Amino acid sequence: MSDTVLTAPPAETSSAEGEHRRLVVISVDAMSVVDVPFARTLPHFARILGGTWGSAEAIYPTVTYPNHTAQTTGRTAAGHGIYANERVTPGERFPDWFWDARDIACPTLFDLAAEQGLTSATVGWPVTGWSPSIDIAVPEIWDLAGLEPTLEVLRDAASERGRAYVDRHAAEIGWDRKHRFGRFNTAVATDIIRRERPEVLFVHLVDVDSARHGTGRFTLEVKEAFERVDGWIGEILAALEEAGVAEETNVAIVSDHGHVEVGRCFRANHELAEQGLVRLDEAGEVAGWDAWVHGCGLTGQLHLHPEAGEAARERVLGLVADWVEDPEIPVQAFHPLEDMREDYGYSGPFLGILEGTSGTNFQNLWEGRSLYGRFDEDYAFLISQHGHLPEQDIQAVFAMAGPDIAEGGRFARCTVPDEAVTFAHLLGLQLPEADGAVVNEMLRVPAGSSAR
Ligand SMILES: [Zn+2]
Repeated sequence: MSDTVLTAPPAETSSAEGEHRRLVVISVDAMSVVDVPFARTLPHFARILGGTWGSAEAIYPTVTYPNHTAQTTGRTAAGHGIYANERVTPGERFPDWFWDARDIACPTLFDLAAEQGLTSATVGWPVTGWSPSIDIAVPEIWDLAGLEPTLEVLRDAASERGRAYVDRHAAEIGWDRKHRFGRFNTAVATDIIRRERPEVLFVHLVDVDSARHGTGRFTLEVKEAFERVDGWIGEILAALEEAGVAEETNVAIVSDHGHVEVGRCFRANHELAEQGLVRLDEAGEVAGWDAWVHGCGLTGQLHLHPEAGEAARERVLGLVADWVEDPEIPVQAFHPLEDMREDYGYSGPFLGILEGTSGTNFQNLWEGRSLYGRFDEDYAFLISQHGHLPEQDIQAVFAMAGPDIAEGGRFARCTVPDEAVTFAHLLGLQLPEADGAVVNEMLRVPAGSSAR
């Protein structure tokens, strides 16, 4: 650890002049630009929003893991390889998520920080399990079987230095039907800041997203989640003060997507089973498949079995074309993979993307019916969701405050990969390839040739 803690530069000084800088990135999952006026009434959000903020267009798919990986790599899914939240595992009701950092196909900010000898820490950040380069990693990972199995897998996925924090704060993980990590993540992050003063810290807070999924976009529960998260941001800012590093730390609030109200859930795999393209055994479990739709919230990836032949491919594409024409089936369009790659930098091992009619949530499940409407008596699913085309609906937020950030600034629109490029610039790191550029509107001293 350097001695700059005691010799913080004046606020006017820019990292462009070679000063030592620190970065804290706080992800408020599912916060959108329309939340800013309310968030500004909360004391700690207001401190960060008093720097510079604007809207950030998510990458496709507008779900959590691909976007959080864009925030640490500057790449879209075609570049970083995290093309969904969950691993595609046909027949599995609750697939594992992309928890493993070794699945990321390009360098991350943490890899670059390690090369430069900067200490990095992540708390609850997606796709950081078993990371080869994060010094103190307490990743996001869970086991739906319960708290004890979750602790076990969390300890396993954490870095060696992260494991001590898991043990010290395990009692702060909440559990009702599933994990509640907000209190735990805040306790771990503030403890890391006080003890180790890492140069780079990324922390993920999910309460607003959870409240929106369960109760709707603008409910009392969402308001309360914002108030809770504001308190946690306050704890993180206070820890930076106590550690003596607040003056040299640029602090960001990022988010990963907006939300859209769900009108119905569509089980495309039930349709595929009726067509014999998904085959079930006597117990109703998946015994084989030619085609599979992997839900990414409001869109679905159409997968073809690697060993399925050309005839199966033709049949599946014909069926999907029929779905688009059929008003009974809430699929608005099919976008082939080549178009997705060209238009959105989105790629993966699938034929293309099914886009639902507005508010259609794709489920991986195959039993029951194809369609569950919100007015159906047995509707017990999400109330709001995301995964839609990035340019649609409400956008994510990118806000920063700190020694290198302009005060009282606004910008209209950047992209989520731009955030990573901006973070790299502020730390004096260079991403080897990026699908974005520095958000110069945020900076007191604009970046040089890499300016957007
Ligand atoms: Zn999210």
